[in-house]
Amino acid sequence: MRPEILFPLFAPVTSLKGVGQRIATLLEKAAGPKVVDLLWHLPREVIDRSEEPTIQAALPDRIATITAHVDRHEVPPTRKRPYRVLLRDGTGFMTLVFFHADQRYMANLLPEGEQVVVSGRIELFNGVKQIVHPDHVVPVAKRGDIPMVEPVYPLTAGLTGNSVRKAVTQALERAPDLPEWLDESYRARQGWPGWREALTAAHAPSAEGALSPLSKARQRLAFDELLANQLALAIMRRRAKRQAGREIAGDKRLRRKALAALPFDLTGSQIEALKEINADMAAKQRMLRLLQGDVGSGKTVVALMAMLNAVECGGQAALMAPTEILARQHFETIGPLAEAAGIRVAVLTGRDKGKARRALLESLAAGEIDLIVGTHALFQDDVIFRDLMLAVVDEQHRFGVHQRLNLAAKGKAVDMLVMTATPIPRTLMMSAYGDLDGSRLTDKPPGRKPVRTVVVAAPRIEEVVAGIERQMTAGAKIYWVCPLVEESETSDMAAAEQRFSALRERFGETRVALVHGRMKGTEKEAAMARFAEGEAQILVATTVIEVGVNVPEATVMVIEHAERFGLAQLHQLRGRIGRGDKASTCILLRSEQLTETARERLKTLAETEDGFIIAEKDLELRGAGEILGTRQSGLPAFRLADIALHGELMKAAHDDSRLILDRDPELEGERGKRLRTLLYLFERDAAIATLRSG
Ligand code: ADP
Ligand code: MG
Repeated sequence: MRPEILFPLFAPVTSLKGVGQRIATLLEKAAGPKVVDLLWHLPREVIDRSEEPTIQAALPDRIATITAHVDRHEVPPTRKRPYRVLLRDGTGFMTLVFFHADQRYMANLLPEGEQVVVSGRIELFNGVKQIVHPDHVVPVAKRGDIPMVEPVYPLTAGLTGNSVRKAVTQALERAPDLPEWLDESYRARQGWPGWREALTAAHAPSAEGALSPLSKARQRLAFDELLANQLALAIMRRRAKRQAGREIAGDKRLRRKALAALPFDLTGSQIEALKEINADMAAKQRMLRLLQGDVGSGKTVVALMAMLNAVECGGQAALMAPTEILARQHFETIGPLAEAAGIRVAVLTGRDKGKARRALLESLAAGEIDLIVGTHALFQDDVIFRDLMLAVVDEQHRFGVHQRLNLAAKGKAVDMLVMTATPIPRTLMMSAYGDLDGSRLTDKPPGRKPVRTVVVAAPRIEEVVAGIERQMTAGAKIYWVCPLVEESETSDMAAAEQRFSALRERFGETRVALVHGRMKGTEKEAAMARFAEGEAQILVATTVIEVGVNVPEATVMVIEHAERFGLAQLHQLRGRIGRGDKASTCILLRSEQLTETARERLKTLAETEDGFIIAEKDLELRGAGEILGTRQSGLPAFRLADIALHGELMKAAHDDSRLILDRDPELEGERGKRLRTLLYLFERDAAIATLRSG
């Protein structure tokens, strides 16, 4: 249960003075529905009002705070015209301009003949200085009410800075003094203020420097958030570890047969990863392991070996892929090897219907199928296993976390292996999974030639096409990737179709194939097959080829408007070539005009093929939020921390939370109790509920 001391912070924003339903809705959009959300809504800039010039000395386009005499009001004939108030000081005149002003209100605000202080942005209109809707107007006696340095908050349409500031000020007043949950000596070493002090400082920046994510106050708040995140993950993780699993350690008879049928030896990282996986499966606890490896690093074979282990123990295994194409591809890779091992394999996707599907499900329930490969279709309620022991999920970030659990629920204490080809930077890994066990495939299968990557300006496309023509004469297969245009599938497709017809005109109908997201599964497959096995030498595609397609003979990839893609995505795409033993080339066509970041991105790609380096660079260039698409990936969105900037703090929080739980696993000691408050503050209630006296 949430401690009472936090109740005022978890009240709805409507409990604040001056916040009615209308403003509450806007505040909710900008910050969140609760008072505590306002605390986390930090200012983005500051307005400096400390310039106090005379009217004559005031400079256009700058914020000024001016003391002057109210000369007279010019009341417009209708409210549609602006209401003007003339001010004067010893040096000259200026006007204040208001739209839709109420006459009585104005008379009160700016009484004729009185001295007032106004603050706002100076403009020049027909040679006269003016301020339109001054931010502050006060009588001279109250000049102290105008903040000389004022925080500017992120807004949403319809919400004014003033109403946010008023609400935030009240929220800050409600913030109680909470007992310190940080280790005192650590806090002292960092020179960080206490929680409440840090909050106040973050909301009342005295200068630009205070807005820096690296200011003491902001660091402290970021660390709190990261600590809550890491601690919650560590608690959940420990609980998961306590969950009984099954000890799965087969006699290797199937794995031996499959290995013998493999035309290659396993790489060092594959062997290493399998050791880790086998140890996890053999342990009494349930396995939850993430297998990371670049495209083409050979994850599928690793998955197969793990699945055969389960089958050796009399159980079943499932491999789930995010798309139909990928599922079928896995099935084709795994099928022959599984057959060589003498087990029964099936594939299930959304396309399987009716009688055939029913028959398949019956065999699965009866245990006549040992290993099943599929898509989301595997989640359906009527998919029942006789004894599911291991679930492998490929391309993890395309599935939600709950879907993963859904699959696990189809068996008793199912071991989970999650595979991803998107290398995740360490700090992001930590934020999403905490202590999740990870294996990495770092070396590529032997014999792979590196991919040469060149960046070419778009106007030179003719040269590129001519180069391709030469390659085609030598029998090359070429991917031609068209970018996503404004996230719209239609225009996306149109671009691809246009390129398709242009290339067909040049090279002939049969030598060019097209595949895009709007095509039916069977159409896609036909196009791919024409490319993989037929006479088509160019496959024009949208990003649908990002996941999946495996044509080892393809040696050239052209990516149009490469600057529109993210770094990780380009890397994924490029991974489609360089899969065979021939040298490959990736041509990044770029627009003439490039932003600095886009230039950096393309340069990075041309320089390295190491997915982990690329991922770190991507994080640095784009910030954490965009890396995988936060919601889709199940990565938490931080309010106070910025993983790209606070990576060190993340590591510290990670280590600290381990230490804390080693000493006080149930958070029952003095510091433990304070840390519970921290967890509630950041709404990690679920983690606390799993503690003994939750
Ligand atoms: P990933 O799923 O990691 O992108 P795959 O598992 O599809 O990669 O493997 C890519 C290709 O490399 C496949 O054709 C596979 O047969 C091959 N491969 C996998 N492991 C090895 C190895 N140890 N030696 C040579 N080739 C391998
Ligand atoms: Mg794969």
